[in-house]
Amino acid sequence: MGKVIAIANQKGGVGKTTTAVNVAASMAATKRKVLLIDLDPQGNATMGSGVDKYDAPNTCYELLIEEKPIKDVVISDTTGKYDLIAANADVTAAEIKLMEVFAREVRLRNALAPVRNYYDFIFIDCPPSLNQLTVNAMAAADSVLVPMQCEYYALEGLTALMDTIKKLASVVNPELTIEGVLRTMYDPRNRLANDVSEQLKRHFGEQVYRTVIPRNVRLAEAPSFGTPAMYYDRSSTGSKAYLALAGEILRRGKKDSVSKVS
Ligand code: ADP
Ligand code: MG
Repeated sequence: MGKVIAIANQKGGVGKTTTAVNVAASMAATKRKVLLIDLDPQGNATMGSGVDKYDAPNTCYELLIEEKPIKDVVISDTTGKYDLIAANADVTAAEIKLMEVFAREVRLRNALAPVRNYYDFIFIDCPPSLNQLTVNAMAAADSVLVPMQCEYYALEGLTALMDTIKKLASVVNPELTIEGVLRTMYDPRNRLANDVSEQLKRHFGEQVYRTVIPRNVRLAEAPSFGTPAMYYDRSSTGSKAYLALAGEILRRGKKDSVSKVS
């Protein structure tokens, strides 16, 4: 059975989309079957996968609101060698329309049911807010991967985020677990980042990935070429870090150490 991992943090600009695109490509490079779902109306993960969001014939809107079968919505020719469900501004309308439909929290979960066995990993790139789309992601996921920057107040924000995830999980998905906390845009020369990183490890222990994603300009440049970093500059520190993260996720999966959030 494949694993569904939601990449979430209410804060914008923490590296959710960069993580989603690059971890999906890294997993696909290890010969796993991977689906990436872009749930953010900004469509950055879509563009970063080499798919023009303005041209996408179907998006999460068709999947969630029109209930089109998932096989008709999936786009299979992406630069990252994974399958994609696209997003664009239409997904904003989906967020609003979800309020009016039956079983609105479990639309995504139900939509994924036919392909859960087909894919080894399904990653969901969440929008930077706690809206109905994020609720759908939490209801559909087996676990949540939380990217964060080691900044002042980061720990406070993370504790609040974990509480929110816990509350949400207790309502829509009691089986939900924390996949891991990922330090992104890390600069080891920054003393504050090192301090926050230490506090984070003390507080969240094994939940913090050993792999750290460095601040690396290649990761920021690759999306403008519509590709994950490993197909833009495979020797960059950024693309190597995401390959290492994929390895760590696979090893953790084998250890099978689950920590329920609720
Ligand atoms: P989110 O999806 O959480 O809003 P993004 O992944 O879009 O965050 O990242 C925000 C910005 O930071 C983007 O411009 C992205 O290219 C850049 N970025 C993300 N991770 C890194 C990194 N490790 N090094 C350098 N730039 C990064
Ligand atoms: Mg994003």
